[in-house]
Amino acid sequence: NNEMLLRNAEKLSVIGELAAGIAHEIRNPLTSLRGFIQLLKPTLVDHQMYADIMLSELDRINFIVSELLVLAKPHNVKIKSLPLVFLLKNVLTLLASEANLKNIRFHTAFGCDPLISGEENQLKQVFINVIKNAIEAMSGHGDVTLTTSAKAAGQVVITITDNGCGIPEELLPKLGEPFFTTKDNGTGLGLMISRKIIKDHDGHLEVSSKPGEGTTVKITLPIVAAEKGLS
Ligand code: ADP
Ligand code: MG
Repeated sequence: NNEMLLRNAEKLSVIGELAAGIAHEIRNPLTSLRGFIQLLKPTLVDHQMYADIMLSELDRINFIVSELLVLAKPHNVKIKSLPLVFLLKNVLTLLASEANLKNIRFHTAFGCDPLISGEENQLKQVFINVIKNAIEAMSGHGDVTLTTSAKAAGQVVITITDNGCGIPEELLPKLGEPFFTTKDNGTGLGLMISRKIIKDHDGHLEVSSKPGEGTTVKITLPIVAAEKGLS
């Protein structure tokens, strides 16, 4: 099992190195474009708006490249035993101010606190992506509930539930396809990356949803010990 994780990590690192190299090559010219557009902006008397559009489009390219970079952190791939609840709380803290701004409350019901094995940054990225989607599915206010529960056969189930807009049934199979998004400013990469990371950790990710009621993302992962501190 650990060997499998390591092998996956190696595969990731080959793709990763390539992707990281390309990302770097894209980002450097973007930075110089950004600088020169900013420099020109005051001279574009009646057309400053065009400069703003160019700047925000550049930022979008940058954002997409950084999303892809998540798959590409070769030197950072360190498989460790991780206390799941600590990791989840960590992610909630990261997202607290964004949620607060949008009147969204986090609720937690941690039925178990196992140790899981994996790459901390990648797993955090998964929970960030999924919780961000939950936040983005709600306008004005709402609730996001995180639970953990023990499953037989050495697995833990993590659920992330929101009471946002939900997903029409016919779109469910499209989730996780690269670039599938229903958002004006979406990249359609979050779920694809999350699925890949969870798969690399020998787990799986399922989405169920009722339009108008909300969405639940269920992530199943293998555990290394039932309670933290016992391994
Ligand atoms: P992005 O967030 O950039 O659109 P994702 O891969 O994260 O890309 O999500 C793809 C699509 O799946 C979203 O555009 C949205 O339509 C749908 N989706 C994902 N999570 C949720 C959710 N919690 N509630 C409603 N729709 C969701
Ligand atoms: Mg997303």
